[in-house]
Amino acid sequence: MLTIALIAHDAKKELLVNFVIAYKHIFDKHRVYATGTTGNRIILEAKVEVNRLKSGPLGGDQQIGSMVATDAIDLVIFLRDPLVAQPHDPDITALLRLCDVQCIPVATNIATAELLIKSMEHGNLQWRESVRAKYLDPLPTGTCG
Ligand code: PGA
Repeated sequence: MLTIALIAHDAKKELLVNFVIAYKHIFDKHRVYATGTTGNRIILEAKVEVNRLKSGPLGGDQQIGSMVATDAIDLVIFLRDPLVAQPHDPDITALLRLCDVQCIPVATNIATAELLIKSMEHGNLQWRESVRAKYLDPLPTGTCG
């Protein structure tokens, strides 16, 4: 079982909900965390069990970032709106940076999200361990690559 973090900016929430509905058979087999509003919509519309964190602008992205930093997240799908400035942009940058630090696969658009979910669907659930073994510096910083 993997732990997946889901986040979508307002203009992308519909897209993410439809994505989760389409791949419900996969999401139902894993542990899902999401920021507040995104998670609420997924629970109501996709009927997938979600551990809801704070809303993104109120610290939800940072909560996911702290989980990434402590190796508690295996995969992040974060559908960003590239056309609208976000008040919590520093939090978003920090989260994506931590994914790079920790070698966590992160999709910021639906095309990459499709590729990641297809990889999971094909049972490639061990790949993260092998990628990390190959690229994650064990000591002293534990950074990626
Ligand atoms: P939300 O947060 O799911 O609470 O809308 C997402 C975000 O804007 O980071």
